[in-house]
Amino acid sequence: MTETLVSISKCNSYDLELVQNAVKNSVDAIGGLSSFVKPGDKVLIKPNMLQAKTPEEAITTHPTVIESVINLVKDVGAIPMVGDSPGGPARGMERFWKVTGMLDVCERTKTSLINFEKSGVYEMERKGRLYHIAKPVIDCDVIINLPKIKTHGLTTFTCAVKNMYGVVPGLRKTEYHKMAPKPSDFAEMVVDIFALTKPQLNIVDGIIGMDGSGPSAGNPKEIGVILASGDSVALDCFICHCLGKDPMKVPSNRIAQEQGLGEGVVENIHVIGEFPVIDDFKWPPNMAGTMELIPSSIARGLMKLWWSRPSIDPDICTNCNTCVKSCPVDALIKNNPIPEFEYGECINCLCCMEMCPEKAVFEDKSRLYKLISRFTKSD
Ligand code: SF4
Ligand code: SF4
Repeated sequence: MTETLVSISKCNSYDLELVQNAVKNSVDAIGGLSSFVKPGDKVLIKPNMLQAKTPEEAITTHPTVIESVINLVKDVGAIPMVGDSPGGPARGMERFWKVTGMLDVCERTKTSLINFEKSGVYEMERKGRLYHIAKPVIDCDVIINLPKIKTHGLTTFTCAVKNMYGVVPGLRKTEYHKMAPKPSDFAEMVVDIFALTKPQLNIVDGIIGMDGSGPSAGNPKEIGVILASGDSVALDCFICHCLGKDPMKVPSNRIAQEQGLGEGVVENIHVIGEFPVIDDFKWPPNMAGTMELIPSSIARGLMKLWWSRPSIDPDICTNCNTCVKSCPVDALIKNNPIPEFEYGECINCLCCMEMCPEKAVFEDKSRLYKLISRFTKSD
């Protein structure tokens, strides 16, 4: 078995039996679960639990995918546990587990749900940068990563590599955004965290993904696949390629490939199965590429005319202030009838958009931005 194998099983429904078969077929095609997990191993299953949202909203890894993987892990005599840290303030973790369907699955299968916010952290260093990583992520024997295929306003794409960002507990995640406001700088940190935790196996929920304004305000998008690979970078690059995006235009793909963390050349990936033809996947505007094109020295002056920034739709906003609590740089302040932006402080991390439960935060763009995007976009 080589690490550049990627397998695909078609699956158009979240019916447990169909998902179980698709997950098993995908994993069998790359050598079977016993190639990755031994009897008695403690196996951390790491889904995407970004927000307390129902499975139908396509923001989180579907519980039937999690249940299928739990069953496979038990079949080889290993011990599964499930853990993730949501995207913003995570008070009342039970609510996240309940709404996403993970509590129900774990109760029925008698699987431990791990609260990363309370499990303690290891301080780990990479390339001179320090990170807090939840202890169970490091203490387990095997990590099985269960991302969902989604677009991302800041990083363009989120799947296997970016999903490991959730091993950082609590608001520390938003602090890292503050330290790295440019998309490529932030992607360096995403890749660091991935490299420090490198999952042995990835099983992707691609039955219904999300396009448009992901990772939480986009549109559920039927793709109809479960994918598996031991190589997270190959998996992400291959999926981008199949959905019409040059993999190297996604900063985390490019940086991980440059650092030798996985195979980024699609021609070198051995694919088992067939990805469906999807020619209408909507990628977010190429903010990353456009921002990197402008020298920092003139960016400040241009920003007066050239901007893309979060804004709030007053007709949808309930003034719950989740966005205010999520902002890593206090660029949002409480106000009536809706919170107010301090755009001079905003680092465009889009955490507020990510965390708004009403989808009231949207990406607003100036005329100049729209004009430049027309010539620079590659989406
Ligand atoms: S924009 Fe969203 S998160 Fe912010 S106050 Fe309004 S509803 Fe709440
Ligand atoms: S206002 Fe929103 S986009 Fe700006 S820094 Fe705060 S959370 Fe990030």
